[in-house]
Amino acid sequence: MTRIEKGSKNALMAKRIIFHYLNYGHDTIANLAKKLNLSVPTVNKFLEEMAALDIIKVKGKLEMSGGRHPALYGLNPKACYFGGVDIKNGTVSMAVLDLCGSVVTKTDNIPFVCENTTESLDELCRLICEFLDTVPVSRSAIMSLNVNISGRVNPRTGYSYSYFNVQDQPLADILTGKIGVHVCIDNDTRAMAYGEYVCGSYRNDRNVVFVNVSWGIGLGLILDGKVFYGNSGFSGEFGHMVTYDNEVICHCGKKGCLETEASGSALHRKLCQRLDAGANSLIADRYRANGDITLDDILDAVAREDLLCLELIEEIGQQLGRWLAGMINIFNPDTVIIGGVLANTGDYLLQPIRVAMRRYSLNLVNKDTKICLSQLGADAGVLGACVIARSRAFEDMLE
Ligand SMILES: [Zn+2]
Repeated sequence: MTRIEKGSKNALMAKRIIFHYLNYGHDTIANLAKKLNLSVPTVNKFLEEMAALDIIKVKGKLEMSGGRHPALYGLNPKACYFGGVDIKNGTVSMAVLDLCGSVVTKTDNIPFVCENTTESLDELCRLICEFLDTVPVSRSAIMSLNVNISGRVNPRTGYSYSYFNVQDQPLADILTGKIGVHVCIDNDTRAMAYGEYVCGSYRNDRNVVFVNVSWGIGLGLILDGKVFYGNSGFSGEFGHMVTYDNEVICHCGKKGCLETEASGSALHRKLCQRLDAGANSLIADRYRANGDITLDDILDAVAREDLLCLELIEEIGQQLGRWLAGMINIFNPDTVIIGGVLANTGDYLLQPIRVAMRRYSLNLVNKDTKICLSQLGADAGVLGACVIARSRAFEDMLE
């Protein structure tokens, strides 16, 4: 795509038009003029310029009874493409979307062990390059690619502090150099939140709280329709709120964090303790034979309605709902979305969360807040990575 000069007087207008069409799909010149508070000739002039750059194209005519049928304009899906990489526990998912958000290529479950080493970073770059070679668009057509990384990430500076901080240079710059496509990085939960917001059915909501209930607990905030980053990009560390007077050491080094009682790691620890104390379960034999059990084994047992695992999931939901009630009181959101791998247990996790959230939040505040499960499931991260790359590319390019 031909670039609109950054900082030019037309850049802000181009950005408003692009974001309008990203939100609404297609629209007539008259409607666009009304929504952007501009005259029809002005909008017409901008659309002509953007059509000449191949960004905008006519999508058809507005169906209406009688009279003229005005042309509908929208984004040209082939104008440019965006990539996303989502690092999960033991695997990586990757995708490329066109400008309008349709999936061009997506691949999941590629084995990858994420470690804070140069070798692990090199392997990640090799996997991304291998994937990009299979995508039916050239790398030069991919305007930007976002990599989701867990832990502390500063998307503005491109530094990651929990993983791949083995060199002095910002991680985003290292990845850009190795992959040959502009790369940005973001926190994995924030990307999942934005993925749900843009690719799920939440576009009419202004304020959304997304909770990633996986091995740890993360929180992604969409406030007034925008991703909330905080001062240095570290917002959303909900899991490390000190909420319990217990003696359990969290992986952050402190004790009593929310994660120590309400997360995948808490579920795992509690189950092992119960089995060690002689409780029975469908996976007790497996645990005793191997000396350990994986989170996937536990989730599988929940799917088979193992009573001990169901009891522990319910306990975790109650604890989580209690602290999420505080989020409702603080943010008064339209929607709270429960995502992450534990959300695969469906109502077994959702119902206790719902009851506790209602019980512990203020009645008037929670009355119109929806509490629901993630719609995208395992795809939230990778699709979120792609749409974060897209938003940031236009924000950065046209600001
Ligand atoms: Zn912690």
